[in-house]
Amino acid sequence: MSSIYLLLGGNQGNRAQILSQAKAKLEEELGPIMAYSPLYQTAAWGKTDQADFLNQAIHIDTPYSPMESLNIIHQIEDILGRKRTEHWGQRTIDIDILLYEEQVVQNTRLVVPHPELHNRRFALIPLSAIAADIVHPILNKAIGQLLLDCPDKLEVFLHKDP
Ligand code: AMP
Repeated sequence: MSSIYLLLGGNQGNRAQILSQAKAKLEEELGPIMAYSPLYQTAAWGKTDQADFLNQAIHIDTPYSPMESLNIIHQIEDILGRKRTEHWGQRTIDIDILLYEEQVVQNTRLVVPHPELHNRRFALIPLSAIAADIVHPILNKAIGQLLLDCPDKLEVFLHKDP
């Protein structure tokens, strides 16, 4: 089994419910959830005319390779109704692979660690909640340290259910 760290995000519909459906599907298809962060709320990155995102980081123990994991994640995104219409546009659910063990993967379909991880507070803050001490295999810094060094100023709030 290998440790895979994912970031779930969504800004449409009942966001918390869709994230919880995604977690259930991931647990069925990818492997047991070992840890998950709280939900965080962030203004849409790269676009300002759409609803805030909810984000959550999760740690799964998976028997699958990085590419197999990506295929499973795409199936789950499709099942949960994501529409691939617009870059950075609205989506029901987005699931990114942040880390896979200490592996570095760089091919046309998959880049791990996620190439923007160290630049985005909406990814680093949830990931720090469950993996602050894990070392980024390219930057050789712990996730908690990457958060302290992160130049991104986007505000990320702990989400409270209404
Ligand atoms: P996006 O629409 O921004 O979620 O990008 C989705 C595409 O990015 C997918 O088709 C993946 O093949 C590709 N991709 C590359 N690296 C990653 C990663 N670390 N996690 C998820 N998708 C990735």
